[in-house]
Amino acid sequence: MTSYLKTHPTRDGYFGSYGGAMLPPVLVPHFQAIAEAYDRISNSAEFIRDLRYIRKHFQGRPTPVSYLKNLSGTCGGAQIYAKREDLNHTGAHKLNHCMAEALLARHMGKTKLMAETGAGQHGVALATAAAYFGMECEIHMGEIDIAKEAPNVTRMKLLGAKLVPVGFGGRSLKEAVDSCFQSYVAQADTALFAIGSVVGPHPFPMMVRNFQHVVGIEAREQFLEMTGKLPDIVTACVGGGSNAMGIFAGFIDDEDVALYGIEPRGTSSALGDHAATITYGEDGDIHGFRTMVLKDADGNPAPVHTVASGLDYPGVGPEHAYLHRSGRATYAWADDKEALAAFFALSRQEGIIPALESAHAVAFAMREAKNHPGKSILINLSGRGDKDIDYVTQNFGFGGVL
Ligand SMILES: *Cc1c(COP(=O)(O)O)cnc(C)c1O
Repeated sequence: MTSYLKTHPTRDGYFGSYGGAMLPPVLVPHFQAIAEAYDRISNSAEFIRDLRYIRKHFQGRPTPVSYLKNLSGTCGGAQIYAKREDLNHTGAHKLNHCMAEALLARHMGKTKLMAETGAGQHGVALATAAAYFGMECEIHMGEIDIAKEAPNVTRMKLLGAKLVPVGFGGRSLKEAVDSCFQSYVAQADTALFAIGSVVGPHPFPMMVRNFQHVVGIEAREQFLEMTGKLPDIVTACVGGGSNAMGIFAGFIDDEDVALYGIEPRGTSSALGDHAATITYGEDGDIHGFRTMVLKDADGNPAPVHTVASGLDYPGVGPEHAYLHRSGRATYAWADDKEALAAFFALSRQEGIIPALESAHAVAFAMREAKNHPGKSILINLSGRGDKDIDYVTQNFGFGGVL
């Protein structure tokens, strides 16, 4: 590993003042056991060999880097490229850490995987991993999300997962996390709580980043091979921040490569209309770690909105808060309208229908390209947009192309 990654986080999971593990006492020994197992097992030849095999023969890695020639032409300025995580099995980057977490769970002798899910993307990826390893799977999901995300609910059931509907409070992602933590306390000996992004108590932000690092390692090598140079700008959308940390990790020691995380500004900059945590938030605690948080007047996590439900989180991974403070990465935003325009543009001009989440990073590249003539921008295209086509066309038509 490169030097930054070796020295961040600290042993107890801090990136500067962010991160850590604030846990109910009953869970402390379980998270310590996971951290120790990760240190030991993830460096073993057997684990590395197994994970390489899975990535190549099940997930379809390496995913390619594509030159977006037509889009570069219409935007003018920088040449735009995309790392194609939309081509990873199940259609997004999430399987990268789910397969690795499942492999770790198996090495630890666990028989069950459990997690929360919002839009269902993480639930589907984890249910896929559980099916592959022949493990049980329990997914907590808010009743509102269950009603909204029927195809993902069907997928999880087909894959053999047990769905736990969450009917209290706002009946959405935040309550699903609370419900899953509660259920996990009683099963922590036999189950692994596989958190869905670079969030949660230590060791999850570090572990998920390191499992997603494969995206950055591949992309750096592929980009060098294609162009003979490194990209000038690397960009990715940021919800919790796992796809962004995955690609950033590959370039973080290359000081000349600018890193841009793109947050969703939804419909406006007013609290409740967006989920741009670093852009508009402040320091705070959420779900057992210290980071930046969008807070309401009472100091509680604020309601959030974005057209991309996978970015709908009032916190952010602690390492992003740290990279923002240190200045190594820059955080900008794209709003719903720009993301939709990018969704239509990439579909029409490149033959790639992107996830609405990923479309935020595409929107940033399209806006920024003209300011960087002769330079290159590499987008992490975190997922494909098949899941979004009904929502988009029912609400926004065909983008003026039909
Ligand atoms: C879940 C998801 C995201 C957001 O998660 P991060 O942890 O911020 O990467 C982004 N893109 C896609 C396609 C997703 O499914």
